[in-house]
Amino acid sequence: MLYLGCHLSASAGNVAMVRTAEQIGANTFAFFTRNPRGSKAKPEDPADCAAAVEALNTGGFGPLVAHGSYTMNLCTADSDARAFAAEVLADDLRRMAALPGNFYNFHPGSHVGQGMETAVEQISAALKKALAPGYPVTVLLETMAGKGSEVGGRFEELKAIIDAVGDNHLGVCLDTCHVYDGGYDIVHDLDGVLSEFDRVVGLDKLKALHLNDSKNPFASHKDRHECIGQGTLGLDTFKKIINHPLLRGKPMILETPNELPGYAAEIKLLRAL
Ligand code: FE
Ligand code: FE
Ligand code: ZN
Repeated sequence: MLYLGCHLSASAGNVAMVRTAEQIGANTFAFFTRNPRGSKAKPEDPADCAAAVEALNTGGFGPLVAHGSYTMNLCTADSDARAFAAEVLADDLRRMAALPGNFYNFHPGSHVGQGMETAVEQISAALKKALAPGYPVTVLLETMAGKGSEVGGRFEELKAIIDAVGDNHLGVCLDTCHVYDGGYDIVHDLDGVLSEFDRVVGLDKLKALHLNDSKNPFASHKDRHECIGQGTLGLDTFKKIINHPLLRGKPMILETPNELPGYAAEIKLLRAL
């Protein structure tokens, strides 16, 4: 099954997102669990969550890929800010229990001079604390472009967090723009990158993808998304990804610079590949 979708606004609630997804030909989607540039979350609405779960089931949706706030940095050097980020993570995971069986993806963080080893320890500690046993959510670490002191630009860094947490509630979301900007050449050697991922992390941990073309050249460590087929990855790369047997059945989320009509067109374009 090809599960394709995009980022949707959560402001009108979960059921509204399911309906919007259906209108644009999506059978999965992503949404921010709270203000992506802040930390404010909407009040919880159990009835809306229950109705959304029902609508997702009857609509044949694949797993959703919720996205944590960009400002949640679990490895910031400021200990108060770090503690606050850990609380935000714990609250997000607790809220995700109302949408059981879906994914929660976040950016591991930026170590801002503390070093990768300290960052891995701090991120793992926050995850261990937030992951209550029995939570029906799988937490995904996103592959990053390795911009500045970003954690997650190398598969080894994600593996180190997964090992330190030692919990099978963790997986990885592979962002095509980020890995290419990060120095993994999915344009010329998709199979090689996937086998490197398998060697370092294990393909069983690869749970979802972000489909983004890139405005920047290979290994630029920049992270600027482009519309599908209009960047340095090119349409051929997405054709290979969409049809790759090892990636089949995983939710694929567009985070391209588009409004809804643009997303609908990209979903259509990708399905035709
Ligand atoms: Fe992201
Ligand atoms: Fe992404
Ligand atoms: Zn990005």
